[in-house]
Amino acid sequence: VDHSTVETADPASDLLHRVFGFREFRGQQGDVVRHVSAGGDALVVMPTGGGKSLCYQLPALLRPGAAIVVSPLIALMQDQVRALRQAGVRAASLDSTRTLDELREIEQGLLQGELDLVYMAPERLMTPRMQELLQRARIALFAIDEAHCVSQWGHDFRPEYLQLSVLHERFPDVPRIALTATADARTREEIARRLGLEAARQFLSSFDRPNIRYRVTPRRNARDQLWRFLQNEHPEDAGIVYCLSRRKVDDMAEWLNSKGREALPYHAGLDSATRQRNQQRFIEEEGLIVVATVAFGMGIDKPDVRFVAHLDLPRSVEAYYQETGRAGRDGLPANAWMSYGLQDVITLRQMLDSSEAAEEHKRVERHRLEAMLAFCELTGCRRQSLLGYFGEDLSEPCGNCDTCLEPVETWDATEAARKALSAVYRTGQTFGVSHLVDVLRGRETDRARQFGHHRLSVFGIGADMEPGQWRTIFRQLVALGLVDVDLDGYGGLRLAERCRPVLRGEQPLYLRRDPAPVRGRKKRGVP
Ligand code: ADP
Ligand code: ZN
Repeated sequence: VDHSTVETADPASDLLHRVFGFREFRGQQGDVVRHVSAGGDALVVMPTGGGKSLCYQLPALLRPGAAIVVSPLIALMQDQVRALRQAGVRAASLDSTRTLDELREIEQGLLQGELDLVYMAPERLMTPRMQELLQRARIALFAIDEAHCVSQWGHDFRPEYLQLSVLHERFPDVPRIALTATADARTREEIARRLGLEAARQFLSSFDRPNIRYRVTPRRNARDQLWRFLQNEHPEDAGIVYCLSRRKVDDMAEWLNSKGREALPYHAGLDSATRQRNQQRFIEEEGLIVVATVAFGMGIDKPDVRFVAHLDLPRSVEAYYQETGRAGRDGLPANAWMSYGLQDVITLRQMLDSSEAAEEHKRVERHRLEAMLAFCELTGCRRQSLLGYFGEDLSEPCGNCDTCLEPVETWDATEAARKALSAVYRTGQTFGVSHLVDVLRGRETDRARQFGHHRLSVFGIGADMEPGQWRTIFRQLVALGLVDVDLDGYGGLRLAERCRPVLRGEQPLYLRRDPAPVRGRKKRGVP
């Protein structure tokens, strides 16, 4: 035998090539596929766009019977099924858009071994009817996609996922694979525990997305800044602009359109036909912008999203990572750009404090928000911090984030912070930043006179600094937790316990110096 002509017949690689047209496995895909095909349980943590689907689609083809794929969203299922069918794979989704006849037909196909993959929502899977049906079918494996939905403290908890734990007992011989892009160790443990996957092999991938450039810009005028970013760096690219509220989404989309950039809104307040249409257009057409709330994006597989812009602060570092991760899936350079300001901090703090959630839940959320704020105020490499958050160690600064490209200056703000804190204290801890800045700068406004603040010792002690500088200082004081925001909805500031050492001068405080604003072409003051 001439060994040089003998091909190594790895059925997994063979299928990867033949069915999906890919030359080689990405990252740990090959290992996962072989492990599950051989009947092993797996917990796969891989960043969005990492290629999780193949991890169960190939074993589905390699093992006899049909793979049952649990997925939380119809749109997600349908996209997958469409792609699989195009590749010639026998796949179907049992979802609520199907007629009764269609559902029965798919069920028959499943029983008769005519399907390789059947997608369904967890609530359908757990119905007695489906459970009974599955007992009679040949099942290749259970794949539980978006497995973090089982995590109660996660950002996307779905109670139906909790029931999936019984699959283990009812189908002890069927391998299970749970997949998620949520990386933190706590969520991972919770998934394993709740799904009975403690003994499953874990496949953890790196979360680094080296082609994404992370930037956080202090907000001056969000629209101007966004516009400059779009025109300078992405005049014709497709991208996503995230906003916190539906109204802002509508406003921004309209504004972009009025400026000549085609933008489609997407939020939960739009009817589902419009949402579907906008999403589909974004995926199929070129150069469109979607302005969206966080409702947009789960399962969107568009490789050439060139930028993700945040006009409001995400709730957590995980959310930021997920949302920015929708950029640059093709591996080409992409931008994650965010404008961030004092108002974000105030709004999110207030939303959190006034929510009806249980105290423990609020505590977790507060913690998450703090981590997000710390990320914004970083003076070191953003990627190092981001990966560190997911338990990953990047030994060198990345060279592809704003703080690496333009190192941030810090300055000794101890004295200024003390003045700011004193102003908060002397005015009675009820006023918002604008008034505090007026007092510090010594502006004798009606308000100052009304409350007698023009006679306070702190009046005018900060006249040496610009209002913008004072706002930056207050933003950081809030972000660092030295100052709390009142719940009354007016953004009044009060001192937090943590500020005492600074106020007493026992602890120096270094703050970041925001980069100077990029000036527009027009000179100010020219008539
Ligand atoms: P995830 O579910 O982890 O977000 P997907 O499974 O949707 O990721 O895959 C993301 C993209 O990468 C898809 O367009 C997919 O076709 C592509 N992809 C997956 N595996 C490979 C591979 N081995 N080689 C090339 N492209 C791949
Ligand atoms: Zn960096």
